[in-house]
Amino acid sequence: MITKALTKSKKIALVAHDNKKAEMLAWAEKHKEKLQGHILYATGTTGKLLEETLNVTVEKLKSGPLGGDQQIGAMICEEKIEMMFFFWDPLEAQPHEPDVKALLRIGVLYNIPVASNTSSADFLITSPYFNEKDYDRQIMEFGDYVNRSIPK
Ligand code: PGA
Repeated sequence: MITKALTKSKKIALVAHDNKKAEMLAWAEKHKEKLQGHILYATGTTGKLLEETLNVTVEKLKSGPLGGDQQIGAMICEEKIEMMFFFWDPLEAQPHEPDVKALLRIGVLYNIPVASNTSSADFLITSPYFNEKDYDRQIMEFGDYVNRSIPK
């Protein structure tokens, strides 16, 4: 295992599907002070709404269905995103369903904290590790996988 420190100032991704955007905005408003001091990234529309509502700077990527989820997934692989609040919609099919699944998978693979609804997001953001303490995140080394033998 490799240890990656999650320091007090984190690179955080925020994503909300359309039916979940109001929930995310209300949640973010409630925790505005805690979110300040971190580096925030978001898919395009979520980021625009967060900036308007909270008056904070958000690095806006492409809209989710236009590749934004994949951008976030790539950033997780590259250690450029360390935590994610992803309010996905369990009641409506998305045009970019494979991207949603891929993003959730990458989040698990790289062992980043992920919250998918308001209660898990409340627990995460009120953890002492969110603003007060460093956290040692363990990541698999993947050496066995990279060096696996390929049948010829
Ligand atoms: P959006 O994308 O913030 O651009 O609406 C969210 C998503 O559907 O992944």
